[in-house]
Amino acid sequence: MPQDTPQDTPQDPSTNRPLTGRHALVTGGNRGIGAAIAAMLVDEGASVTITARNRDTLESKAAALRGRTHAPDRAPDSTKVCAIVLDVTDADAIASVFAQASADLGPIDILVNNAGAADSAPFKHLDRAHWDRILAVNLTSVYECCRAALPTMLENKYGRIINIASTAGLRGYAYVAAYAAAKHGVIGLTRSLALETARRGVTVNAICPGYTETDMAAQAIATIQQKTGRSAEEARDELARFNPQGRLVTTEEVAAAARWMCLPGSDAITGQSIAVAGGEIM
Ligand code: NDP
Repeated sequence: MPQDTPQDTPQDPSTNRPLTGRHALVTGGNRGIGAAIAAMLVDEGASVTITARNRDTLESKAAALRGRTHAPDRAPDSTKVCAIVLDVTDADAIASVFAQASADLGPIDILVNNAGAADSAPFKHLDRAHWDRILAVNLTSVYECCRAALPTMLENKYGRIINIASTAGLRGYAYVAAYAAAKHGVIGLTRSLALETARRGVTVNAICPGYTETDMAAQAIATIQQKTGRSAEEARDELARFNPQGRLVTTEEVAAAARWMCLPGSDAITGQSIAVAGGEIM
């Protein structure tokens, strides 16, 4: 019998999609950075569950992601997309949504803790309710989601946890003390959990974007305008000046870092906090 040569073998549509068969859950996957990450993971073959609070944007993003799964070179039905409403500050809801996502698309192999919020306030106006709200959405949610996903990852000896932190997890910025405290906390959690899981097939990393083109940056620009009377362009320049490249980061640039952490060959990358910020942090 002649050996099959690559030319003789019918092309397996999943060959070029290394995450085929993996299930990724992305919190805050309906817009901004989370939506860009979900799209790249779908493109790499993963089935994806996106979660967020807003049902309408969640459903329309899920429909758009399903559109990406119909490329002619793809195996039919190899990639599925689900959307589930979830407020990540609700610990009980996290447990049940993760159970539902696993029942729908299989065990969660990749967890992207992306949902977050960055309300600003000078420290003298940073009351306890603001502090608690910002820690709940940016830090405690990461703890809860890791608790929900990790046991199965350890059982399966495979997992990728990607925490979307911020350059505010690596340095301070005025008027966002609660946010910076939460994001520094995410990096501490990332490093410790990476050590605990280092021999178990699970990697845990953080991505630290600088100011990125999303609703969150638009909100920061609006706040600067409102507080200082500057134009939108001036306010935007003020954010861009933090970045030595003189611009805002794109959501695709952040997503590309997340994709890299999931692709084969990334097994030795764990406990890292990768700044995607044009050289703002080095
Ligand atoms: P957006 O404001 O565009 O999106 C925030 C996302 O989080 C939305 O999907 C939102 O969905 C979701 N979300 C917010 N609160 C909750 C909640 N309580 N429960 C569930 N989902 C929630 O922000 P970005 O895309 O910019 O931010 C994504 C991540 O990137 C955040 O963690 C942010 O801190 C981080 N980051 C952003 C930077 C930037 O300049 N844009 C810079 C550095 C880090 P919904 O409202 O429907 O719930």
